[in-house]
Amino acid sequence: MIQLKSPRELETMAAGGRILAATHQHVKPAIAPGVSTLELDAMVESFIRSHAGATPSFKGLYGFPGSACISINQEIVHGIPSAKRILAAGDIVTVDIGVHYGGFHTDSAWTYAVGAIQPETQRLMDVTEASLWAGIAETKVGNHIGDIGAAVESVVVKAGFSVVRDLVGHGVGAAMHEDPQVPNHGKPKRGPKLQVGMTIAIEPMVNAGGAATRTLADKWTIVSLDGTMSAHFEHTVAITDDGPRVLTTLG
Ligand code: MG
Ligand code: MG
Repeated sequence: MIQLKSPRELETMAAGGRILAATHQHVKPAIAPGVSTLELDAMVESFIRSHAGATPSFKGLYGFPGSACISINQEIVHGIPSAKRILAAGDIVTVDIGVHYGGFHTDSAWTYAVGAIQPETQRLMDVTEASLWAGIAETKVGNHIGDIGAAVESVVVKAGFSVVRDLVGHGVGAAMHEDPQVPNHGKPKRGPKLQVGMTIAIEPMVNAGGAATRTLADKWTIVSLDGTMSAHFEHTVAITDDGPRVLTTLG
């Protein structure tokens, strides 16, 4: 069932989303060769908890051990922070963060370059971010969930990359994962209708090679099957009378 949020609840989510955006700003300068993903995770956790009433949504969610999911290169999602995972120049790293505040979750992921990266890797990141914004632009009353996925997919396919189909965006609110599912592919005017008060996490995951995935033996980390690089950009977005409102932003 889709849970619609009141204007007051949206303001609470926006407050949590601001903390989340500030957390990304806080870790970004630390992303450099030689840093472990566990160090980044510790920064995420302490920064979130430094805001009264805010906690990291992912810590313990379904048993996940970290505060952030931190995924390197061919890892798409759900990388477990580790002292043994050290960033190197040329890597890309996705930091996926959830914040619980005032009874509501928000969810936002960003892929960052570690030092200098290959131009094709930069293009993968740029296309994935552009596909997120294309999806957000369709997040308005009168459209359907399928309009979002179609917009995302169109940007990615034109660029010659692959949308991951095994993983989807989702409604977000009192629970981290609510209805509806928000696939990164689809057909316009198909799927649930977008209504004022819906809050959804739109999160294109894009592989440089094929779309196929597999899960590693740690039972968490999902990687591209062909080992090619993967990027992931995510915002929590509300549908309002005035169009899409990105909640996971400093603005
Ligand atoms: Mg996320
Ligand atoms: Mg999400």
